[in-house]
This record gives sequence, structure tokens and C-alpha cells, in this order.
Amino acid sequence: MMSSFRGKVTAGLAALVLGGMLLAAPAAQAKKLYVVTATTDMAALAQEVGGDKVEVESIAKGYQDPHFVEAKPSFLLKLRRADLLILVGLDLEIGWLPPLITQSGNPKVQVGASGYLDASQFAEILEKPTGQVTRAMGDVHPLGNPHYWLDPENGRRVAQGIADKLAQMDPGDAAYFQQRFADFSRRLTEAEKRWDAEMAPYRGRKVVTYHKSWPNFAKHFDLDVAGYIEPRPGIPPSPGHTLELIQQMKRDNVKVVLVEPYFDLKTPNSIGAATGAKVLVMLPSVGGEPAVNDYFQLFDHDLALLKQAFDSTK
Ligand SMILES: [Zn+2]
Repeated sequence: MMSSFRGKVTAGLAALVLGGMLLAAPAAQAKKLYVVTATTDMAALAQEVGGDKVEVESIAKGYQDPHFVEAKPSFLLKLRRADLLILVGLDLEIGWLPPLITQSGNPKVQVGASGYLDASQFAEILEKPTGQVTRAMGDVHPLGNPHYWLDPENGRRVAQGIADKLAQMDPGDAAYFQQRFADFSRRLTEAEKRWDAEMAPYRGRKVVTYHKSWPNFAKHFDLDVAGYIEPRPGIPPSPGHTLELIQQMKRDNVKVVLVEPYFDLKTPNSIGAATGAKVLVMLPSVGGEPAVNDYFQLFDHDLALLKQAFDSTK
């Protein structure tokens, strides 16, 4: 699989080179730092603290499964001229990003270089493995849960880390980045007060989720994730596991099922029909829907959906 993937990217890039589309970055853009992020959530946080001193672009779209992104030649064009690459890390992007980094030939963003920023170092990470790390069971979370941005406190930590990095790369604007971070942090504190108050009546409510995307979110908002539609992260649902889950949901009175927008609704809907649970398509990322354009709108959107679902399934 990997070799055909590489072949595709190489062939695509060659076609672009032949087409004369590989132009040097225009001089006018030289002053802004060009920040490429693996995902839209990292882009949203980078934009918050970078303001108009940066140009930010995400490789993955917000409606895509960040574990499995189909590589396109346009990704290489972005990486070629990036000053800084920000990734979620913890192997979230391992299926698609490493070969792109290598093939970009951009020394600034190679693993360990000064323009390579793994944002997981700033965040609180849940589900860290204690035993030997293995992918034998197909687990796509071998280093701990990579969906950490869904706790707003981790958003704050990552934003601070990005602000520090930008200040280091562009010392002349260090005060600007720190001021942007302070402003983001203040707005986040205000939003969190509102979010926490909205969710207070639902503390301890049980949910089932398709993928393990929500442990940080559940921890922050005090929800109880009672089970998963995937038998293990990255492994599609099986009839046996689904039956067990249905029995468990009936026993524990679980009435809400959260599904990320990139999964097939067939199994979730059959679980909903068997248990009377409400199936909600919850967005794990900024840009999951066109109206969700920044980090605040992501939580506004998801919490409104959740509140509605909890209210209608008492
Ligand atoms: Zn995952």
C-alpha cells in the first residue's frame, strides 16, 4: 500500500514539475512566516496566535479522518515552501505525513529540524500506553490518544507553544505573538466559563463513540464514555462487538452515540434503532462543516448538539 502511495505522489509531482507549476514563492510573501499544519485544528490555533504575521494552511481538511488522508501533489507544494510545519503528533499522521515530509526536500521541516513542531509535547495526553508499544492489533493510538485538542485547556497549551515557537523564529514580532496568545487565552477562559455552565446539568452522562476521539473532551466536560463502535481504534465494527455493545448500552442506559463525520452511519444507525439511542454526527475538527471556522466555533457547535441530544433522551 505504502509503495503505491509513494509512487502516486512522485508521479503527481513529476507531472507538476513538467507542467511548470513549481514556482518559487513570490517575494511579497517573504515577510510572513508560512506555516503549514497537518490538521485544521492546529491551523486554527496557529492563526489565533500568528495573526497577520503568518500565512497558515492545513494539509488535511476538517471533514477528513486525520489518521487516513490521501496524499496529493499539492501537499508537497505546501511543504516545499513551509517555514514551519505543525503536526498533532503521537503517530496521528504516520500513515501519510512522513513520506510527504521526506519528498518535500525542504530541510526546514524535516523531523527534528527547527521548522518541525510536534504539538503533542505541549498537551496533556491521555491513554498513554504502559506496556510494550505494538501495532499488532491494528491500534492507531500506539503512543497515547492523539485527539487531545478536544480539551480546550490543551488548545490553550498548544497555542502557547506555537506562540513561543513563532517568537523564536521571528524575534522582532515576539511581543506581538505573546500579546495574541494572551488575548486568545482570555477569550478561551470566557468561553470555557460559558461552555462549562452549559454542560453542568449533564455531568456524568454516558455516551458511546465511534472512534476514541473524545477522551480529552469527555474528561473536560465530565462525560462518561461507556464504549466504542470500533472494537479497537482504527478497526472497523464487527457484528459480534456491535451486539455486545448494544447489550451493554441497554444495560447501562446509554442514549447518545457520537459519530465522527467520516464514518459510515450504517452501524451507528442500527445501534440507535436497537437501543433507542440518538446518533449524533459530532465534529472532531475545525472545518468539519463550512460554518465551523475556528476553535471556538468547534466547541459551540458540538456542545449545542450534545445539549440537544441529552435533553431529548432523558
Ligand atoms: Zn484516533
